[in-house]
Amino acid sequence: MVGGDLTADLPDGSTVRFAHLDYAASAPAVRAAADAVTALLPYAGSVHRGTGLRAQTSTLEYERARDLVAEFVGCRAGDEVVFTRNTTDALNLLARALPAGTTTVVFESEHHANLLPWPGQVRLPVPSSPDAAVAAVAAAVRTLRGPVLVAVTGASNVTGEVWPVRRIADVAHAHGARVLVDAAQLAPHSPIDLDELGADYLAFSGHKLYAPFGAGVLAGRADWLDAAEPYLAGGGASAAVGAEPGDVTWATGPARHEAGTPNLLGAVTLAAVCSVLLRADRDALHEREQELLARLRDGLASCPGVTEVSVFGPGHPRVGIVSLALPGRDAAVVAAELADRHGIGVRAGQFCAHPLTRGLIGSADVADCGTAASLLRISFGLGTTDGDIDRLVLALAGLTRP
Ligand code: PLP
Repeated sequence: MVGGDLTADLPDGSTVRFAHLDYAASAPAVRAAADAVTALLPYAGSVHRGTGLRAQTSTLEYERARDLVAEFVGCRAGDEVVFTRNTTDALNLLARALPAGTTTVVFESEHHANLLPWPGQVRLPVPSSPDAAVAAVAAAVRTLRGPVLVAVTGASNVTGEVWPVRRIADVAHAHGARVLVDAAQLAPHSPIDLDELGADYLAFSGHKLYAPFGAGVLAGRADWLDAAEPYLAGGGASAAVGAEPGDVTWATGPARHEAGTPNLLGAVTLAAVCSVLLRADRDALHEREQELLARLRDGLASCPGVTEVSVFGPGHPRVGIVSLALPGRDAAVVAAELADRHGIGVRAGQFCAHPLTRGLIGSADVADCGTAASLLRISFGLGTTDGDIDRLVLALAGLTRP
């Protein structure tokens, strides 16, 4: 990992390897991403806009990146890959491209990025089980007419729990609805194949997938995207422009929603990581992650005053994310102490999923986004060591001891 050997200064004057356990926010970049930047930067030039070595190389690499991402998500005939800034951008793009009158169905447990953009929303309460989630979607879509989009997360950014996406997609499709999977947290931990997930659309971010910041993906059915107004008006999205205001023919395909000079390095580094993951033994990576998860949860079980939160119960499959309620403690203070005294980075707060975290903590007060409503989140992935987990557990046990 790039930066895997960073050290943090401790109060006693010593230094320690910095243990980054906040992958769910942003993961460190893998070496392949840095190598891709080094290889392309000397050639960087305009994409789709010029001639000569730089422009040609840049255009070629940008479209090669699109092809790689298409392979990564298993694009089918009629699907396309649009490069965006991040998952939030991808979800807002699709929200704006929905056919007029579309009803959207979401659980209130979603990250705000997959909760707030959707128009015409039917908001379902947090389900108590995977079966209840599937039943709630079935009941909702059964009654709806016109275009319907069900937007659901692949894995929760709060609990790490994997959602029954395939089963939700099957009931949604049985009633003619389409399905968007927010794969921001699933993609770094598990293959995300459109067909296997049963998804019509997928969105994810490069910075959570071991690539640098600034690039994300919306992949899926091209028809709604081609029929929609361009996400941004400008060069690249316009095929022909006349003299009169409004006299414009918009491009079709990904260009329609990628106006302006694109994020070449973002797309290429994201694709470089996709390429690494396509060749990796994902089963072995999954097994390793589950070992770390078990180690963490075993350790946490012996920490006093620490309660793991979950929607579907402790036995439900999850990715490398665990959030803790610390009754009587301010999670932000504990997170700061982990950083300052132990050189460990985690996250405290509500993780842009306020309705879910409030429910998990048992606080009904919408205005209470302060200490009482905060969780402590530990998240990890490629490059995390047993030692990182052990240090966290030891430090937390010391900090939360009554
Ligand atoms: N969806 C989920 C499940 C997330 O965890 C996040 C970020 O934490 C997002 C969407 C938004 O991602 P980004 O900030 O990269 O747009």
